[in-house]
Amino acid sequence: MWATPALAQTAVPATLSPEGEVAYAFGQQMTFSLQVRNEPLLQSAVLFVSTPQFENTYSHQLPIEAGKGDLINLRHELDLTAVPLQPFTLVTYWWVLEAADGTLYELPHANLEYADDQFVWKETAQAGVEIYWVADGLDLGQVALDVVLESLPRIQSVVQADLPNPLSIYLYPSASDLRAALRLSGQDWVAGHASPELGVVLLPAENPRTAVVDLRRRIPHELSHLLVYRAAGTGYANMPRWFDEGLATLFESVPNPNYEPALQDALASDQIIPFEELCVSFPR
Ligand SMILES: [Zn+2]
Repeated sequence: MWATPALAQTAVPATLSPEGEVAYAFGQQMTFSLQVRNEPLLQSAVLFVSTPQFENTYSHQLPIEAGKGDLINLRHELDLTAVPLQPFTLVTYWWVLEAADGTLYELPHANLEYADDQFVWKETAQAGVEIYWVADGLDLGQVALDVVLESLPRIQSVVQADLPNPLSIYLYPSASDLRAALRLSGQDWVAGHASPELGVVLLPAENPRTAVVDLRRRIPHELSHLLVYRAAGTGYANMPRWFDEGLATLFESVPNPNYEPALQDALASDQIIPFEELCVSFPR
């Protein structure tokens, strides 16, 4: 159920002594529980859940039938296969309790980071940029930080916007791991993924021998998407895809060796895609 959150201004009576909890199994379900004393007498509870990606707040109502003063245990399981969440999104949730006399009590909002906990992430940070990675050996965190700091001035000389603060970059141990994580969130995978509204970039860094070259291509590409999103604001949805992707590709420090032959082939066989077709969709 999706609804506009109810507005409850009434102070929450101390007798309710609510205690909330949330736990999740990544990609499967998120369980919200609330223990509350039935004083004043309650008739229902509504759980609200929102994330930066939800257009509307998710809500679920639970009826309450209990004696006055009883301890009530409320529980709702959010099916993450039906309501997919993006990895590392910030989940905000709260409960609204409805008393028998119709008074609404809105409990304080709480936040939870929906981290992909299938991996043990190492972490390094500098200048508001956080890098998380998994692989042993090469210090991928420092490599990625260096690439961010080296490519940023070049991108910002064209796209005048600031990075989100913090910016979090997650380097998945393999492309298939990243693809699986994004599938769980109901999304398709390209070569990397930026969630500009979250300030989160997800990239694969599978092969230690090619990781440096890969990151010098992929990080500036995703940074460009982030900065264009922040510069364009609400106009981002109307930005031609060829322009956004074109800029991002242009900033890749190491050009993709496959692009030029592909362009030559298309030219030779007269299969160039017209610009107007590239405004809304983009070939994979
Ligand atoms: Zn792109």
